[in-house]
Amino acid sequence: MERMIVLNMPFTSSTGENTFICPVILEGEAESILIDAGVEGFLDFLKEEAGRLSFDLQNLTTVIVTHQDFDHTGGLPEILARYPKIRVLASRIEKEYLEKRKKFLRLEQSERNLPLLSPAERVEAVAYQEMLKARPPIPVDLTVSEDTDFDCCGGITVIVTPGHMPGHISVYSKKFKAVITGDALTADRGVLQSANPAFTLDMALSKKSAAKFLRYDVEQIICYHGGIVTGDVKKRLRELTGQ
Ligand SMILES: [Zn+2]
Repeated sequence: MERMIVLNMPFTSSTGENTFICPVILEGEAESILIDAGVEGFLDFLKEEAGRLSFDLQNLTTVIVTHQDFDHTGGLPEILARYPKIRVLASRIEKEYLEKRKKFLRLEQSERNLPLLSPAERVEAVAYQEMLKARPPIPVDLTVSEDTDFDCCGGITVIVTPGHMPGHISVYSKKFKAVITGDALTADRGVLQSANPAFTLDMALSKKSAAKFLRYDVEQIICYHGGIVTGDVKKRLRELTGQ
């Protein structure tokens, strides 16, 4: 019996806003997948929240990482240390950053913006950069470089959705008619919104990627930032993507 578990966990954004994030667990017979892993120090909380919904993290077989940002990957080193059998899946592009063969794009962005900041802002930016530099590499076991079907958890498709980050991926669940967007889209009080322009490296490409969701039989969309959106999601998708 498959289940989709949408977690809802408090999160303080980089701008200091108290909000929440939604990692998703797709539970299957042989495989169970966590999509995005929260921030550093999250593991006990994640375990407790999953346990409250009758899921034991011990049963996880795979973590799908939608992209390199720390709010999606910061919790992963602790998860892998406690459950070393878990495999990590990411896009071939993001693998390079996750394994620290390439400089994090957020770090590059912050370094580029540094001359534009006030002295006080600069102190904060440098602390942020140090935090990014100190992040351990995350080994990626499986990669995709195009839309890829897997027959676990009632059937999933990993959809390549560049824009927010160049190697961003999202997940479609056939069984639950759900798209798990990562940061390809956001939601605000149940209303679907575009990717966050402040953090999206290529908005035009992101829009094009989000239009791919229209190809699927979708009844619900789960945004890492904003949670579950139901109703006429295709109508809203068409509005947002101009399709
Ligand atoms: Zn994010």
